[in-house]
Amino acid sequence: MFNFEYFSPTKIVFGAGKLAEIGQLINDYGNRALIVTDKTMLKVGILTVLEEYLAEAGIDYKIFSGVEPDPSSEIIDKGAKFAQDNNCEFIIALGGGSSIDSAKGISVASTHPDKIIDYLVDGKIGVSGIKKDILPIVAIPTTAGTGSEVTPAAVITDKGNYTKRILFSHYIFPEVAIVDPELTFTLPKNITVNTAVDALCQAIEAYVSPKSNFISDLLSIRAVKLIKEGIYDIYEDEGNLKARTNLSLGATLSGIVISQAGVGAAHAISMVLGAKYGISHGLGISMVLPYVVEYNSMIVEDRYIDIAEAWGIKIKELAEEEIINALVEELKAINKKFNIKPKLRDFNVEKDELLELARLACSHGDMENNPQEPELEKVKAILAKVF
Ligand code: NAD
Repeated sequence: MFNFEYFSPTKIVFGAGKLAEIGQLINDYGNRALIVTDKTMLKVGILTVLEEYLAEAGIDYKIFSGVEPDPSSEIIDKGAKFAQDNNCEFIIALGGGSSIDSAKGISVASTHPDKIIDYLVDGKIGVSGIKKDILPIVAIPTTAGTGSEVTPAAVITDKGNYTKRILFSHYIFPEVAIVDPELTFTLPKNITVNTAVDALCQAIEAYVSPKSNFISDLLSIRAVKLIKEGIYDIYEDEGNLKARTNLSLGATLSGIVISQAGVGAAHAISMVLGAKYGISHGLGISMVLPYVVEYNSMIVEDRYIDIAEAWGIKIKELAEEEIINALVEELKAINKKFNIKPKLRDFNVEKDELLELARLACSHGDMENNPQEPELEKVKAILAKVF
């Protein structure tokens, strides 16, 4: 507990309306920016606002709007070529985790000789082949979920192998994260909820990870409280700025803590569901998180009790087992409250595929930080519960 390393180098500029400061914040990075984003940002008007600020600041830019959810290595290689062809000097990532992760991949692939797939963890060259001089990234999240704006990782879909793989390097920490909660107002309610649960899960999984440390623990607990405050206020009023602010801050804190302590089984399972069936990351997480808490509870009961208290469960009135049950029920209640009722069978998953999905999840890198050893039959049982 009192013997650890903590590293979080991204400058965070947080607050409603902070996007307006982008002109001053990007002075150091060159004259030509590459905006990495998806088509939705144009549709909802956020890209136009960014373009206006860049024009005011006299910044030249090109737009790569080819990002898709759970970005593939092919999209990233395409973006990298676009960056090279246009001599871009730095990247502005505008969007959810998919856009920010794409920006990280493009930053590496556009400055290295080989395709991005070769630089992934377990790739032909691997992360040790990533050099320091990549394009600096300014990240502007428009979801409140992944915290990718402050992490040294990007999740990249390897379509050929139906899996989501990791790009990991301290060089891909964004230089600046502009976290402006006003940019999340246009999120559809279901994405607001699923991404909030992703952030909640990150805070929880980092807290129960064997790699958690004194600082990450403080931030995890605060993130859980912020997300609790935000998520139910959103139910009443999606335009509630205080709720949006709580969720954005909770998500950024959750990104900081996973950078220190990693994630666990819920993430490993969701990665597999996303790569094989296109189930969005946050939705996959929200389906399995309650059952992962049950699965791990024998090993880290005391840690989950802290989480339960942070979530507002009156722990003094309950026995230990009742506290865990109450936490599991609270986590299940989030989807119910927002009328999100996903089942794996709705995504064309066949029952006889569950064992193979469990096998893929058990061998996923995120499992390494899970407090409970991955057991094939028990992970399959988690999947069966959401089938
Ligand atoms: P996303 O970026 O895939 O976006 C989901 C959808 O929401 C998209 O259709 C997008 O266009 C839309 N959207 C985003 N912002 C919007 C807004 N303000 N208004 C309207 N629509 C908006 O979703 P995400 O959950 O933020 O990111 C998921 C990806 O991030 C996954 O690939 C996941 O594996 C990865 N991830 C990365 C890290 C990391 O540290 N790098 C951590 C966790 C997850």
